[in-house]
Formats: sequence, C-alpha cells, structure tokens
Amino acid sequence: MRTTLYCLLLLLFCSPQSILAEGKPSETTPIAPFRITDNLYYVGSEDLASYLVVTPKGNILINANLASSPPQIRASVEKLGFHWRDTRILLNSQAHSDHMGGAAEVVRETHAKNMVMDGDVSVVETGARTDFLTPSPNILTYVPVHVDRVLHDRDTVTLGDVTLTAHKTAGHTRGCTTWTMRSHLPGEPAGTIRNIVIVGGVGFWSEYHFVATPGHPVSYPDIAQDFQHTFSELRALPCDVFLGAHGGYFDMLTKLKRYPQTGPRVFIDPSGYKQFVTDAQETFRKELSKQEAAAPTTSD
Ligand SMILES: [Zn+2]
Repeated sequence: MRTTLYCLLLLLFCSPQSILAEGKPSETTPIAPFRITDNLYYVGSEDLASYLVVTPKGNILINANLASSPPQIRASVEKLGFHWRDTRILLNSQAHSDHMGGAAEVVRETHAKNMVMDGDVSVVETGARTDFLTPSPNILTYVPVHVDRVLHDRDTVTLGDVTLTAHKTAGHTRGCTTWTMRSHLPGEPAGTIRNIVIVGGVGFWSEYHFVATPGHPVSYPDIAQDFQHTFSELRALPCDVFLGAHGGYFDMLTKLKRYPQTGPRVFIDPSGYKQFVTDAQETFRKELSKQEAAAPTTSD
C-alpha cells in the first residue's frame, strides 16, 4: 500500500513539466566533444546539439541548450583546448528552452553577442513567455536574454575566416533557423570543401494548429505556409555533412560508433539528409490533411 502510494506520488511529481525542466537523460548526459570539420566541433550532450565554430578572431557557439547545460558545454570547449571566454557570438537553432535555456549564462560568462532570427526575437527576450504555444506544458520559460543582432532569412554571420548563413526555416518556432557553412574535413584532400547543414527543427506536437476550427485559431498566421516553405528551402540546400539541433535528427550516436575508424567523414550523409526532409514533410502533410478533414467545411 505504501509502495503504491509512493509510486503514485512519484508519478504526480515527475510530471512531463518537471521532466522537461530537468531535461531527458539523453539531453543531459555528457559525451566527449569531437571534431567534425577543420573549424567545427560538437560540444553538446548525447542528444542536445551544441556546436563550436573556431576562427582566428574568436569562436561562435551554436545553441546554449538547457539552463543546466552551460557547464557541460564549457567543459567540452575546454577539453578541446579552446577558451570559453573566446566565445564571441552565440547563435541558436530555435528559441525553445532546450536550445536557449542556457543562453543568459553563456552571455553573462563570455559576453558573446546574441544573434537571433527575427521571428524568435521576442521569445528569446521574454524567455519563451511570448511563444505562440504558451501556455503549454511543452513550453518552459527561461531567463530572458537581450538580442544584440536581429537576423533575417539568408543573413550571414562572419567572424574571422568563417561565414555562416542563417536560413529561416520557421514553423516549429517562428524564427527556427537552419545554419549552413562550407568547410574542409580533416583527412580529405586539401581542395575538397563540403557543404554543412545544421537543421533547426521540423517537428510539431498535437497542440500545433495548422487549420482554424471554430473557437480555435491557427497557432499563428501562416504557420502552414511557413512549414511548406521550410521543406522547400531544406530540399534546395546542398548538403554533404548532415547535422541538426538534436543528435537524433542525424542519427549521431549510431554514426559516432564508426568515428574511431572513419573519422568525421561518418557525418557525410546527403541521402540521410534527403530522407530526413522527405519523412518530415510527409509527417507534416499527413497531419495537415487530418486537420483539414476535421475542420468544418465552409458553406453559404
Ligand atoms: Zn523545439
């Protein structure tokens, strides 16, 4: 009886909200940082991706992850032999708490300039209080962070000898950003330059409304068009090295098993990238048709 009660209480307190706040184990389990290209390194956890772009003028960090993540990211950066204080620019994949929860701490410690895609600026500056899904158990608030530079679709971010391009791939969040850059992989012929794609996010939950129903508007105006645009944009991007905001997007843990023998070339996966985009678009298409079918038809 006592045990049953305890289990019940445990269930109550381990609500999705508190699990989300802590992060799933895969989001908080550290893994050894590793090199992907000459100037791009992975410094995230088992599933929450964080990337360090290294330049002679300082470094760029993509994703600060959960509020609890910065010490893990910093340890990875230092393990690679780089200095945390050399982080000059903070970029992100999307404004949700699992990618921006740690941003305030990163900025406080490194004084990095925080650059955010236009659609996500207010979400970042309010710590997700203006997310279009709020209030939602999936949307956790975080310490708000000032945005130093507002990015727009296809803006570039340059530091030292590296230029990244910000592709607005909205829908999952209004400013969801897919980053691209061109880089050389260690072990490949000197002249071989690869196209790197870091997918921002393409998913949605049951609470995303693409079609208005009586008393229930769409999640935000043009959300369905944003998703459609995102898929055509992703489809058009040249991709050799497939990366993303979550390791799960590009099957990172499986690929890493081959890393000791093959090196960073394990991440060269243009067909995996195409399949990922195709699958995501199909998932969206099905949900859109389902919502359209459920919506009452307009008649005179
Ligand atoms: Zn998200």
